[in-house]
Amino acid sequence: MTIESLALHVLNVGHGDSIVVEASYSDGSNRFSVIDCNIRRDEDAPPALALLRKLGATRLESAVITHFHHDHIRGMETILAELRPRRLLIPPVLSTKTALLKKILKQQKKRILKLLESTDDKSAKQAAYSMAKIIAWIVGHQDKVEELSGPRRLVALLPGLDAAVVLPTARIKGVIHRHLEDEGDDVELFADDHNDTSIALTLDFADTIVALCGDATLSQWRLSRRICERDEISRLSARVIKAPHHGSKHNNTDEVYDFLEPEGAEKSVVLVSASGQVRPQVEFFRMVSRRRLLPYCTGLSACCMPENVVSMRGLQSLPPAMRAFVANYETAERPVACQGDIRVRLSRGKPPSISTSVASPCIYRM
Ligand SMILES: [Zn+2]
Ligand SMILES: [Zn+2]
Repeated sequence: MTIESLALHVLNVGHGDSIVVEASYSDGSNRFSVIDCNIRRDEDAPPALALLRKLGATRLESAVITHFHHDHIRGMETILAELRPRRLLIPPVLSTKTALLKKILKQQKKRILKLLESTDDKSAKQAAYSMAKIIAWIVGHQDKVEELSGPRRLVALLPGLDAAVVLPTARIKGVIHRHLEDEGDDVELFADDHNDTSIALTLDFADTIVALCGDATLSQWRLSRRICERDEISRLSARVIKAPHHGSKHNNTDEVYDFLEPEGAEKSVVLVSASGQVRPQVEFFRMVSRRRLLPYCTGLSACCMPENVVSMRGLQSLPPAMRAFVANYETAERPVACQGDIRVRLSRGKPPSISTSVASPCIYRM
């Protein structure tokens, strides 16, 4: 039984990641994996679950939590409960050392309770609830949980489809454990620097390499690249890249893309999952232009619009009718979705095809 085609649904969840991987097999069956989960503001259920139901999924082959930040875990517990993944893949943070695991769980419980008491923010409460439920699932299904680190380790995402784990590097485990031993109760999985633990994967299907980069950080990319270079791999050669950390300027640099992109004239497609409010950053679009990447953004284009990138240097020189169109395209109060949900379809013998749920014009794609 082989995979005939693969669809990656990169969902618009506002700021955050949620990717559904759908594989169609030669026997007519479909199988699924989910990478991260989030719930849009003011909604109660994750779009990934709605899509999986619509696609007829009754069970997941695997689920991946790239790291334990709010914008990657919210709602994952409903997917774990309803679609019972055969494997849950997580970064190496929870430890197989029983004493450490107990310490982390105790300390997480305290944090979750504190968060639930101290905030009225619905999303923060949702995240705390999700975290508690996910930890409970992990404790109850330890035989299904696998901690990933790379680079160059293969893990089965679906039958017949391995993912190569690029990040985090194995060394992060030691860093976290030292951190836990030194700082005791103050360590939290939600802390900013936990982007260093983020999983990044590559998939190789139908002559296309796809890099799904979570919130991976520059320092981790550097380490991974150094290790890969020892094996004479200087590039991951990804033609489709889910940009690391929602298009943050710190983790989307030329150095990172020199490692991610193929050599030569062929330019890659870059997918950004962000609301457009704090990410992607202006510098990200400058890099997109410089490298001639073809961008697709799930979220809102506020970042590209009036004050920032398009600030728009040339606006005054546009013909008045055109100026009105550009100026009315979007305001801070009335944001316009960019591409919405993005679907990348990979089929044998064909180039990757990309379709989007919203077809807003984008000056970076024209
Ligand atoms: Zn994130
Ligand atoms: Zn993060």
